[in-house]
Amino acid sequence: MPFLVFGAPRIEEDEIAEVEACLRSGWLGTGPRVAQFEQDFARWRGVRASQVAAVNSCTAALHVSMVAAGLEPGSEVITTPLTFCATVNAILHAGLTPVLADVDPVTQNIDPDAIEAAITPRTRAILPVHFAGRPCAMDRIMAIARKRGLVVIEDCAHAIETEFHGQPAGTFGDFGCFSFYVTKNVVTGEGGMILGRDEEHVARAKMLALHGMSKDAWHRFGDQGYRHYQVVECGFKYNMMDLQAAIGIHQLARVQRNWKRRRELWQRYDEALAGRPIGLPAAPEEGTRHGHHLYTVMIDARSGIGRDDFLEAMNARRIGTGVHYLSVPEHPYYQQRFGWRPEQWPQAMRLGRQTVSLPLSPAMSDGDMERVVEAVRSVIPA
Ligand SMILES: *Cc1c(COP(=O)(O)O)cnc(C)c1O
Repeated sequence: MPFLVFGAPRIEEDEIAEVEACLRSGWLGTGPRVAQFEQDFARWRGVRASQVAAVNSCTAALHVSMVAAGLEPGSEVITTPLTFCATVNAILHAGLTPVLADVDPVTQNIDPDAIEAAITPRTRAILPVHFAGRPCAMDRIMAIARKRGLVVIEDCAHAIETEFHGQPAGTFGDFGCFSFYVTKNVVTGEGGMILGRDEEHVARAKMLALHGMSKDAWHRFGDQGYRHYQVVECGFKYNMMDLQAAIGIHQLARVQRNWKRRRELWQRYDEALAGRPIGLPAAPEEGTRHGHHLYTVMIDARSGIGRDDFLEAMNARRIGTGVHYLSVPEHPYYQQRFGWRPEQWPQAMRLGRQTVSLPLSPAMSDGDMERVVEAVRSVIPA
């Protein structure tokens, strides 16, 4: 029985041919394919091409977005404890101070009431994460931000397809940051995208992502003659390569089809696991589009097995699973630096200790799906 790899991407012949063409073109770095991917992405989310900038990760996107937002050092940024460490690390890299606000136990997204309770005179931004692809309560979050004059940076790592009341995730705040990491819904290997409301802020983020140079390498080394560049800020090395965009262009062209397949798998899990003593993810909310990035089940007191034993049992059945996530304050670095304790954010702590993500990749066959269902049923009898 082959091991079912968690989050395996669905790579097709178009990507392989485009990567080969890119290699043969002699132009591997930031160039025409990145520009094409940016245009395609802008069209997908209904914004102008000047409102997006491709980078080499979502972590990089979050970092330079926060720098470009011009928040003074030490400003507090409110985010969720139920996220990947990169969300909090990016706040720290930007010289800002993370403040956690607990999640809603049903949606697993940051709770707007908890955001309000976490606001201090030093609060300057809110960084919501659309967890698992389910949109945050953007009406309430934007109302809080407007009332208090706060910047909003959306972590859209799970949310390429997500919409809230007909509007795409990433277009509510000042910035939306997307990931094209290998397990995400659109894959470039490593990769990310900045989407910004203000073109000038996006231009600054883009410049910061390439050493703070005023013209990118494509313009400098194109066929229009040598161009001098000027370094106008101390930037970073966060640019996306054409080699990566070559994959992304074709992945993005199939974003809708792959989403439909994940939704099918999601519904099949819902049916097949109903009635077992495990928690299933909340149904998508009316008037929203769920990105269906993660299918998270809760292994709790009723389940008759501990969460970590469940992970082991699935592994023994040759099925890869994930944990999204142990809450941020479970990690020693944040405990030591900020004195955080998981108990301070009890919902995120409990979810983080119970949650298991089942495979939900469009690369899965119906047979793969049934294997996962059978495995869960054998570990957790009705
Ligand atoms: C994957 C992920 C990131 C980081 O994305 P990279 O592209 O790997 O840097 C940030 N936030 C969340 C919620 C993620 O899942």
